[in-house]
Formats: sequence, structure tokens, C-alpha cells
Amino acid sequence: MEKNIALIRGDGIGPEIVNQAVLVLDRAAEIYGHSFHYSDVDMGGNAIDKWGEPLPEAQLQKCLNSDSVLLGAVGGPKWNDVPGPMRPEKGLLKLRAAMEVYSNNRPAKIWPQLADASPLKPEIVARGIDFMIVRELTGGIYFGTHETKQTDGQTVATDILTYSETEIRRIGRIGFETARKRGKKLSSVEKSNVLDSSRLWRKIMHELSEEYPDVELTDMLVDNCAMQIVKDPSQFDVIVTENMFGDILSDEASMITGSIGTIPSSSLGGTTRGLYEPIHGSAPDIAGMDIANPIGTILAAAMMLRYSFDMAKEADSIEKAVSDTLDAGFRTADILPPSGDLRKIGCRQMGAEICRRVR
Ligand code: NAD
Repeated sequence: MEKNIALIRGDGIGPEIVNQAVLVLDRAAEIYGHSFHYSDVDMGGNAIDKWGEPLPEAQLQKCLNSDSVLLGAVGGPKWNDVPGPMRPEKGLLKLRAAMEVYSNNRPAKIWPQLADASPLKPEIVARGIDFMIVRELTGGIYFGTHETKQTDGQTVATDILTYSETEIRRIGRIGFETARKRGKKLSSVEKSNVLDSSRLWRKIMHELSEEYPDVELTDMLVDNCAMQIVKDPSQFDVIVTENMFGDILSDEASMITGSIGTIPSSSLGGTTRGLYEPIHGSAPDIAGMDIANPIGTILAAAMMLRYSFDMAKEADSIEKAVSDTLDAGFRTADILPPSGDLRKIGCRQMGAEICRRVR
């Protein structure tokens, strides 16, 4: 199969981790007889430096013309003082909106080899952590009107949170469909004791649940959900929630599974073209040092093969290669326990070790 992949290496550690994912993709292509063609896309801080904006139209078009997009990460302190609409992260919001990827899917799963890296008590981890967060990605407060103005002699800032029935219904459906393919339990997370948008959310989720009698729907307030994720994560199968709540809860969920560096995510809409990325940022504190963990990006590439290219066995082989590499005792600094006989390696070597185990 021939596939065109748009590569956004981005800023900070982005280029280092994407390079390793490309090596792994090429290895899988070689073994399974595919051809992956890559086009480089400038987005984020590097695009601001080169083109004066975070995602110029011509760069965006390369993504829209591709079969899928693989992203490292964007942003960093160099662009902290850039005005709001020109910030690196605006490129990402523009890309998500243009690709119409309204569903961000993040697995929160503990690798048995990394159980020690979880900050939770061993008895909680032993009960198992394996759930999926389905986060609405193109609506809500991040896409509402933002305004800062002078009122009565002081500065007042406003951000508007809006959701339509259509937006809730389409993400709700993905929540139910995902639960149906997993443990058939769906937690709908909102703040309906305070917010109108959440009351609408709850109403639509209950309407939808009549179409999915095989899925058990539970309503949960977001503050309670934040507590339950650390108290007993084994109770969750699939969580569906709006944009900002999902942003916060998915970072919390990533922490309890160990390193932020090992977790991938996919963003999909109504087509097979998706946006795949690790969940972490550009980690400017370790950029260029060859110590970043490339596993999240490599697993994001595996998700791309599985969900956008229908290449399940290729994805399985990459995921197994990651597991075998961890079994062999190789660890980047972020997942290296303080003691033990594990081998500390850098980003490039981790990529190479995973590559040679893809078969
Ligand atoms: P971050 O995720 O970049 O880093 C948080 C901590 O985790 C840092 O100590 C970092 O060294 C570590 N870390 C992250 N990824 C790692 C990896 N693969 N291997 C080892 N350690 C890793 O979050 P931050 O510091 O809050 O943000 C840095 C920049 O990234 C900011 O400009 C932020 O806006 C941007 N950001 C971008 C995205 C994205 O592009 N999708 C997402 C989040 C943050």
C-alpha cells in the first residue's frame, strides 16, 4: 500500500522524536511491503520564525492533501511573548479545526514493565489501569470568543464556552461506539450542577444511550472524576468529555500510568485521515540532548497504521517491539527507576532498539 504522510516535526524535542518514529515506520513498511511518502510541514515556533505565522496556508494544505499527519510537538519559551493569535499553539488549533478532527482519543494504560513509574500506591495499580479518554477537540471554550478589555477602570478577560447539540451528539456517539468495542462502560463527564453547556451535554448523552442499550452510561461531575482517576482508575473503561475537561483529565490520566513520554493519541473526525501525536509538549528543557523518550511518538505512528491505514498487524508488530524493548531492560531517563539493573539509553538508541525488534 502507498500512503502519504505529512510530518510536522515542530519545536523542542519534536524533530528528535519524529525522526525515530519515521525510522520505525520505514522498517514496518519494508517488512510488510508498503511505501510511505513523507512531506515536511512547518508548524509552530519554527514556522513563525520562517514564515511569520504558526501555520501558513500552504503548509496546512500539505496536511489536508495527506493520508494522515504525524506531529511531534510545538511551542517553547522563545515564542512566549508572541501575541495570542500568532502563538505556536494557534497553529495546532487551526490544524485541528481545518482537518475537522473533533475526537481526541487517548489511551490511559499501564505497561506492566513500567508499573513502578506510577505515582499511585502499588495496590491501586495492581487493580489495573486501562481506559480511554474521548475528548471533544474542536469546540468549547478553547474555540469560543476570547476578549480582554478595560471595564470600570480595570482589565477584564472573558472566554466563552459554547456547545451545540450537533457537536455533543457526534462526540457522544464516538464515546458509545468506543465503549461498545471495549468493556461497554461509558462515563460521561461534565459539570451540570453549574454549567448550561453541561446540562445540554447530559441531556444529549441520555438521548443517545437509548440507541446503545448494551453500553452502561454513568454521569460523573468533572471534579469527582478527577478524584476517582487517582482513587480507583480500574473503575473506568471509556470517559467521554468536552474539550477543556478532557485536556485536564487526560494529563492526569497520563501521569498515573507512568511517563508522559510513552503515551500516544489520535484525533479523528468523519474520515480516515487523522492527526497522530504524543500527548506531551515540546519539552524545551531537554531539547537537543538526545534524552527524550520517543515511545509516545512511535506508538502514535502505530495508532496511525491501525486507525487510518487499516494496518492492524503492522501496528501490532510496532507495539510488540516497544514491549520487547522494555522487556529487554532498555529505558530512557524519564522511565528509569532510581535503582535496578536496567539500561539507560538515549532517544536515538531507543528508536534503534525498537526498530530492530519490529518483525
Ligand atoms: P511538556 O510536555 O513539554 O514537558 C513537561 C515535562 O515532561 C518536562 O519536564 C519535559 O522534559 C518532560 N517530557 C515531556 N515529554 C517528554 C519525553 N518525550 N521524554 C522525556 N521527558 C519528557 O510540557 P510543558 O513544559 O508544559 O510545555 C512545553 C511547551 O510545549 C510549551 O510551549 C507548551 O505550550 C507546548 N505544548 C505543546 C503541545 C503540542 O504540541 N501538542 C502539547 C502540550 C504542550
